[in-house]
Amino acid sequence: MKILTLNFVTCARKACKASPAAFPLRPREAELEIVEQDINPLFVRNVLPRLEWDALREVCGELGLQQLPSTAPSPDDLFTTTPAAADTAMADAADAHEPRPSQLLRDLHTLLLETTMRSGKLVCGNCGHEYAVKEGIANFLLPSHLV
Ligand SMILES: [Zn+2]
Repeated sequence: MKILTLNFVTCARKACKASPAAFPLRPREAELEIVEQDINPLFVRNVLPRLEWDALREVCGELGLQQLPSTAPSPDDLFTTTPAAADTAMADAADAHEPRPSQLLRDLHTLLLETTMRSGKLVCGNCGHEYAVKEGIANFLLPSHLV
């Protein structure tokens, strides 16, 4: 399950829907894996305004990942018109000044889309229920007494 997904899931119990403590679910005993993906700059740009930034920071903290800035970056930070040194030789004059993904965009891509939780648990901060993650899939089905 991608780190991005953790920004969109919450505890399935009805009693937790209205509780701020139920989001984000806290990863525990997480085994992480990097699954390389082609970078999609427009996707990252479009998803950025929909992120709950504080929740993302919290999850990164729990997982011991890179510390994110305290406020969400602006879409302008995601592109740079300065050619990277390594690209200069290859870039022809026509696209040398095209906007290209900034390091920040690459970092967000790696964090949100390539970093995946392979196994572990997601714990609700309100009710304490633990959702198991196995083979990269979280099981959000509740036992009948909790529904
Ligand atoms: Zn809950």
